[in-house]
Parts: sequence; structure tokens; C-alpha cells
Amino acid sequence: MKRIYLDNAATTPVDEEVVREMVPVFTENYGNPSSIYKEGRDAKKLVEENRAKVADALGAQPNEIFFTGSGTEADNWALKGAARRNKKRGSHIITSAVEHHAILHTAQQLEKEGFDVTYLPVDEYGKVSPEDLKKALRDDTILVSIMMANNEVGTIEPIKEMVEIVKEHNPRTLFHTDAVQAFGNIPVDVKDLGVDLLSVSGHKIYGPKGIGALYIKKGTPVENILQGGAQEKNRRPGTENTASIAGFGKAAEIAKEKLPEHTEHMQKLRDKLIKGVLETVPKSELTGHPEDRLPGNASFIFDYIEGEGILLSLDLAGIAGSSGSACTSGSLDPSHVLLALGLPAGRAHGSLRLTLGRDTTEEDIDYVIEQLGPIVKRLRAMSPLDEAHPIDAAVYEHGDHHHHH
Ligand code: PLP
Repeated sequence: MKRIYLDNAATTPVDEEVVREMVPVFTENYGNPSSIYKEGRDAKKLVEENRAKVADALGAQPNEIFFTGSGTEADNWALKGAARRNKKRGSHIITSAVEHHAILHTAQQLEKEGFDVTYLPVDEYGKVSPEDLKKALRDDTILVSIMMANNEVGTIEPIKEMVEIVKEHNPRTLFHTDAVQAFGNIPVDVKDLGVDLLSVSGHKIYGPKGIGALYIKKGTPVENILQGGAQEKNRRPGTENTASIAGFGKAAEIAKEKLPEHTEHMQKLRDKLIKGVLETVPKSELTGHPEDRLPGNASFIFDYIEGEGILLSLDLAGIAGSSGSACTSGSLDPSHVLLALGLPAGRAHGSLRLTLGRDTTEEDIDYVIEQLGPIVKRLRAMSPLDEAHPIDAAVYEHGDHHHHH
């Protein structure tokens, strides 16, 4: 059976051109970039060429790009590195309630180390308010980290405006943005945004998994979080993942080149999908911002049913989707993002995220719309919940950490 992959926010297939760049690195250009002989010099050259490609796609200088083992590592580095290095100036950090766990759990770790973290709320569409940020800034605020686009509901945050507010308050307060979901889907230009630190990842842009990068604006005070050799200009030790770096560079180059076409393609199909689902499925609602959202993100809430049930039925119909983020699916906890939007825990359980990609076709979208209505109807027929018996949120509250307003 033909599979329709609509979970491109979880990960993307590796572009064949990217694979072609990577294969010879395993077998021919296999040297260690730290070695001084030809094999080493060739590998070093490959790393630098691809650093330049990633830098170019982000509007950065090559010496401002540091390869990491993932987007998660880049986020950890940005937060821990900036917080620890600037501790003498203050201990206050600001982030948002809808960040990826790579940010949220790192912020929680920093709280244990004595930092004071403010988690900004979001509105019903998942937007952080620049006004709220302005009010939260203090004399001892050393770092602000707000994601560029949300991985679950696709909402795009007003980063440029927030950077201006922060820098007006104190030019030394560092601004980091997690651009893992934004990169390759909307324009990401570090100079235009004005950020000091920015994280990206290879596998969300049709590149390999296990490779990411942190943009560190020249002169930004950030401590290392890994100790070891002298790689990455003494900033990030570990023998360079040369094959993945080659793949990431190529993927970034293609992402830059194809961005307008890619955005337009996905946005058209996304709008068709959203319209089709909302029209054919009763008691369905779009989550995330209606306009300021990633071009490939279509996410919904369906009342009275569980996202897990929808996923299983879709899977049987040949469709791969997600409920919440890849990390939260598989657990019964409702997504922290949906709770932050103000959705009651019970309703948050009925979530579905479909994320389109380069290869998504109009026929795929037609098929999904055709399948989803009957699936939801069948699940609702089996559900003990309906209009007369709406959700008792308490039933779904596991533990004591699910607060919502
Ligand atoms: N940040 C966001 C917003 C993400 O969506 C993800 C991936 O799901 C990450 C960070 C982590 O990236 P990686 O999978 O490369 O560790």
C-alpha cells in the first residue's frame, strides 16, 4: 500500500542529492579533519565548505557556525553556555511555555543550578506577546530564548520585534531562538532577526539525523558545555561528523535555493487540507495561528476522541501523522503546548498534527480529507463522550503538573 507521510515536522526523508554527497565521505574522504596529512586536510576542507553553506543559508559568517550532534545539543549549548558564562551579570532567564523540551528541560536544569526562569504564556493561537516580554525583562535578565516557530501548532513568533525590545532594554541581554522548525520552511536570516544565538537541525531540512548547528554571533559570551579536544575552534569537542556535515551543508544549500517554491507548494496544499478537514469533520478546530503559521503545518483538535486512536486508524489507511510532537506521542500526557493555548486537558487529547513536505501531492491531500471524516465518525461512535457527555477533564489529569488557565 502507498504510504502518505505527513509527519515532516518529526523528521524528513533525506534528499537523494544529499545522500550522494554523503556516501563518498564514508568510503573515500574518510580522514579525520584534525590530521595533518592529505586525508585529514581533505576532510577539513569538506567541513569548512559545508560550514560556509550552512552559514550562507542563515545569513551568517562561516566562523559563527558551530556544528553539534543535534538541534537538542545546540539548544542545550545556547542556554547552558550563555547562562553559565553570564552568571556574574545576573541569573534571570526568560523563555516561553511552548518551547520544545530541548529548551524547557534545559531551563529546568538551569533552575536547579540557581537560575531564575520566567516562562512567558502564549495566547490562544500560541503567540508570545512582545508586551509580556517587555514587562518580564529585569535588570538581571541575561538571556531570552523564544522559538522561531512551534513544532506542534506551527505558530511563528515575532522574533525580530522581540529582539528589538530586549536590546532596547539592555544590549547585553542575549537573545537565542530555536529555529529548528523554521529553517527550510520560512526565511531565517540571523542578521535580519538580530539574534545572538540560533539553533538548527539537519533532519528537519531533508538532511541526516544527528547533526545540528548553533549560530553564535561573533563576540557572544558563551561557555562550552562539552570538554575534550580542540575541534570547532576549541568550542565543541569531538571528531567532526564529516558525512553528516557534508549532508547538512548540501541540505542547507538546497533549502535556500528552493525556499520560495517549497513554501508556496506546501502552503497551497496546507490551506486545502485545513479547509477540507474543517468542512468535512464536525466539531473540529484548527490549533495554532490562522495566518502566522509554518507553511506545512495543519494541526487540529477533534472533540470527544483521542489523538492516539486517530493516529492508529490513519496508519491503517496508509497515512503517517502525529498527535502532539514526536516526543510527546506515546505518552498519555497531554501536550504542554496545547495546554498553554488554554485548551482543557481532555480536549487536548484529541489532537492531530499533519505536517506536509516537499513530496506531498494534491492527491495525498484529497485522500487524507476523504479518509479523516469517516475515521473520526467511527471513533466517536465508539467513544463514551459526546455533546451530552462532554469531557471530564479530571479523568485525564495524570499527576499534578498540568496547569491551565
Ligand atoms: N527544537 C524544535 C523546535 C524541534 O522541533 C526539535 C525536533 O523535534 C528539536 C529542537 C530537536 O532537534 P533534534 O531532533 O535535532 O535534536
